[in-house]
Amino acid sequence: MSLSFENVQLTYDELHALDNLNLQVESGEALAIIGPSGCGKSSMLRLAAGLAQPTSGTVRINGNLAERPRKQTALILQNFGLLPWKTVRQNAELGLLIQGAPAAERTRRTTEALARVGLADFANSYPNQLSGGMQQRLALARAIALDIDTLLMDEPLSALDALLREELQDTLLALWQEKRYTQVLVTHSIEEAVYLGQRIAVMAPRPGRVVATIENPLMGSAQWRSQDAFFSQCRAVRAALEGGSHE
Ligand code: ADP
Ligand code: MG
Repeated sequence: MSLSFENVQLTYDELHALDNLNLQVESGEALAIIGPSGCGKSSMLRLAAGLAQPTSGTVRINGNLAERPRKQTALILQNFGLLPWKTVRQNAELGLLIQGAPAAERTRRTTEALARVGLADFANSYPNQLSGGMQQRLALARAIALDIDTLLMDEPLSALDALLREELQDTLLALWQEKRYTQVLVTHSIEEAVYLGQRIAVMAPRPGRVVATIENPLMGSAQWRSQDAFFSQCRAVRAALEGGSHE
C-alpha cells in the first residue's frame, strides 16, 4: 500500500514535533528514516499506524485517511512488545488472536512464521530464554504471521550488537524481498539506513522535518555492504544529517 504525509504538522502542547512534513512512500517500497533523537520519527510511525492524528495536514494509506489502526499494518517497537509469561508460539500468535483468526489458521500461520525467522525449535520456550536477536526475530514472526501489506519498524535492531544486527538486517532484507510489503524502517544507524532503504529520508529536529531524501537504487544488490557505492551513500547520508543539524 502507499503511504503519504501531506503538509503534516504535529504539535504536543507548544512543541512542534513535526512541521510541514511531506513524504510519499510507494506501494512495495522500502523506506528508511534516519535522524537525531527527538526529530519526530516515532511520531511519524504512530501517525502512519493510525495510532495518532496530525494537528494539521493529512496522512493517507492507499489514499484513505489513516484515522485508525488497520489489520494489514504491523508496527514493531524497539522493546519488542513480547509478553514474558507467554511462550514463543503464543507470542507469535498474538496478533492473529487479536484479529480473531480461527485456531487452525493461527496454528498454520504461526508455525510458518516461526520457521521463517529460524525459531521453529523454540516454540515452547519463553521470551526470557531467548537472546536479544531471537527476541527480535520473534517480534518479526508475530508481524509476518499476519497478512500484512505494510511493516513499520521503530529502531528495531538498536539493542543488538553489531554482528547480530547485520544478521537481522539480512533477515529483514530477505523477508521484504520475498513479501514486498511497504516497509518503513526508522533507524539511528547510517549503515542500516543504506542497507535497508531504497530511499532514505533524513530528518532534522525542532521542528521535526525531512531535510533530504536520498535515492539508494543499489539497495538489495549482492554484497551491497562491501561495495564502494555503499560507502559513498553512507557519506551522503552523513553529510545530509550534518547539514540538517547545522541549520
Ligand atoms: P524520535 O522518535 O525521533 O526521537 P519522537 O517522535 O519520539 O521523536 O518525539 C518528537 C518530539 O516530540 C520530542 O521532542 C519528544 O520529546 C516530543 N514528544 C513525543 N511524544 C510526546 C508526547 N506524547 N507528549 C509530549 N511530547 C512528546
Ligand atoms: Mg523514537
